[in-house]
Amino acid sequence: MRGGARTNGARANGDEQPGLFSAPARLFVCTPSKLSAYEDCPRRYRFAYVDRPAPPKGPPWAHNSLGASVHTALRAWFDLPPAKRRPQSLPTLLRATWVREGYRDDAQEHEAFTTAVGWLEAYVADLDPGFEPLAIERTVATKTATLALSGRVDRIDERDGDLVIVDYKTGRSRPGPDDARGSRAMALYALAASRVFRRSCRRVELHHLPTGTVAAHEHSDESLARHLRRAEESAADAVAGEQAVVAGTDPDEAFPANPGALCGWCDYRRSCPAAADVPERAPWASVERLGAPATGEA
Ligand code: SF4
Repeated sequence: MRGGARTNGARANGDEQPGLFSAPARLFVCTPSKLSAYEDCPRRYRFAYVDRPAPPKGPPWAHNSLGASVHTALRAWFDLPPAKRRPQSLPTLLRATWVREGYRDDAQEHEAFTTAVGWLEAYVADLDPGFEPLAIERTVATKTATLALSGRVDRIDERDGDLVIVDYKTGRSRPGPDDARGSRAMALYALAASRVFRRSCRRVELHHLPTGTVAAHEHSDESLARHLRRAEESAADAVAGEQAVVAGTDPDEAFPANPGALCGWCDYRRSCPAAADVPERAPWASVERLGAPATGEA
C-alpha cells in the first residue's frame, strides 16, 4: 500500500501540476481518529468508514464511558464561575454527566465513580485558582493541499502568548514524553489551533488523571511537518484503497488486516476473521482493579 500511496500522495500534494481546466483535487475529509484508525489497522478503517452498512460494533466499553464522564465533568467544572469551582461540587458534576454503559455490575460502576471523583479532586487541587483555559472541547479545523482536517481538542491553554494543546487521559497506563511526541492527533490539533487562533502552538500535553502526571512535548516546525506528511500519506493510502475497491480489488486485499494487541479492544473484533484467535475481552476489563497502581509509561 505504501508504494501505491506515495504515487497517490505525490499527485495529491501538488507535485504534478493540474491542467488549466482540470477539476480541483478533492480533499480527504478527516479527523485524527479517522487517520489513526487507518494507521492502526486498514481493515478496521474499512469497517468503520468504507463498508456500508458497517458491520455491527461490539458492546460499549466501560473505559470509554469512564473517560467520557470525566472529560465532561471537567468541562462542566470550567463552565462554572470561578467562585463556584469548589471540590465539593465535583461529585454532582460527575453524576450529571455519568455514562453508565459497559460496567460489569452496580458495584463496579460505583467503584469507578468513587475513583473518578478522587482523580478529579486531585486534578483541580493542582490548578491555579485563577486559571482559565482559552478553550474547552473546541473543534479546530484546517485544510492542507490534500486534507480537510478537523477535530475536537479537550483543552487549549494560553501560556506566555503561545497555545498549548491539552489532552486528558484516564487509562491505566501512564503516558510518557514519547507518547506526547508521537501523538499524531495532538500534533494535528496544534497545527489546526495555530491556524485558527493565528498564534504559535508547539507544546502538547497529556494530562493523566489517575496519576496526576503530565507528559509533554515541544514540537518544532519540522516535527509538526513530519506528522502532517505522515497524515497525508495515510490519507492517500486510504483513498487508494477505496479506489482499488471501486476498481474491483477484493476489499480484504485493499484494506489488509493488522492483527495484534489492539484486536482485543477493537469494536469490530466479532466481525473480523483475522482476529478469530484473539480472546474476547469483557467490556469492563480495563476498569477492573481501578485502584491498583497505574502501569508504566505506555
Ligand atoms: S480485530 Fe484486529 S485485525 Fe480485525 S479490524 Fe480490528 S484491529 Fe483490525
